[in-house]
Amino acid sequence: MSMSEYEDAFVFACDGCGLSAEFVRGGPGSFMACVSEIKYRGWRIVREDGDYSHFCSNPDCRASVAKKSAAIAKRLLDQPLRTVK
Ligand SMILES: [Zn+2]
Repeated sequence: MSMSEYEDAFVFACDGCGLSAEFVRGGPGSFMACVSEIKYRGWRIVREDGDYSHFCSNPDCRASVAKKSAAIAKRLLDQPLRTVK
């Protein structure tokens, strides 16, 4: 888990390089506002098995996102349901 929730702030940490981004809580709905903001800054959020990974805009971290997405896609494609062709 790379997102921490505090009484007065949300802190996201990059799963690639460890860079963190802190947001002061601004009331109801502020979490989604933080998510929008972090995406605007070029961060990527990858969901896998209900768990979220966060990666910053660093090129190395973006490469990690691509790798992780490919791994998830491969696993989905490897499931038995794939009979269409
Ligand atoms: Zn990073």
